[in-house]
Amino acid sequence: MKTVFITGANRGLGLEFCRQYLKQGWKVIAACRHPEKANALIDLTENFALDIYPLDLSDEKAIARVANHLEGKPLDLLINNAGVYGGSPQDLAHCDTAHWLQTFQINAIAPAKLTQFLLPNLRLTDGAKIVFLTSKMGSMSDNGSGGSYIYRSSKAALNAIIKSLSIDLQNDGIAVAALHPGWVKTDMGGPNGLINTEQSINGLREVIEQLSMHNTGCFVDYQHKPIAW
Ligand code: NAP
Repeated sequence: MKTVFITGANRGLGLEFCRQYLKQGWKVIAACRHPEKANALIDLTENFALDIYPLDLSDEKAIARVANHLEGKPLDLLINNAGVYGGSPQDLAHCDTAHWLQTFQINAIAPAKLTQFLLPNLRLTDGAKIVFLTSKMGSMSDNGSGGSYIYRSSKAALNAIIKSLSIDLQNDGIAVAALHPGWVKTDMGGPNGLINTEQSINGLREVIEQLSMHNTGCFVDYQHKPIAW
């Protein structure tokens, strides 16, 4: 049985990742800020191999605690999914510095730290993979409309981290990818999103399945379409 660790697992894309991997027979380690309130996840524990851990990504000690609990347990896949938009409006005149730093912490620094802490678990598995839910909005090439300073800059920072990891983990045989899920109807994507979570995660699971050391370091969307950095 393969094991996947998923952050932000209580709602949106993270919850759909959990549902689909569980149905595929994987063991899922789901992390979220408030497991006691994660009713959709709790329901899934009745029929599936699902463990739920508390994890607020803004708390580095909490990241270390989860890693301690998992010491010696092999992981096949780490999905760094949790993220925030960082509030609005995000025109330059209204970007609050504290908000901006907090968004950097959650969207860029925390996924890097979590990855660092879980590397020993990933190194226990042949062909382990690490993926990050980033966004086209972190792409320089794709930015045709400006604005969204907080979100764009936090995802651009994440993209730089992903690229470095894909190089640094080559000797470990761990493949790394930057994933854009599409514009999805979730709390973050809003009701005008173009696709639902099921469509996005169906596509992203296939992309992850095809991720290997041959295409490590790719930046692709849920339909395998490459995105320019
Ligand atoms: P969502 O519905 O807003 O869910 C965000 C998830 O992140 C929630 O589980 C939330 O937990 C968790 N989270 C936020 N702050 C956290 C923290 N400090 N510690 C731990 N967990 C935290 O968003 P989504 O649409 O599913 O997005 C998932 C990922 O896809 C994000 O990285 C997002 O940037 C990316 N993305 C989404 C879209 C889209 O159209 N939806 C497009 C491009 C990229 P709580 O419930 O506790 O807040």
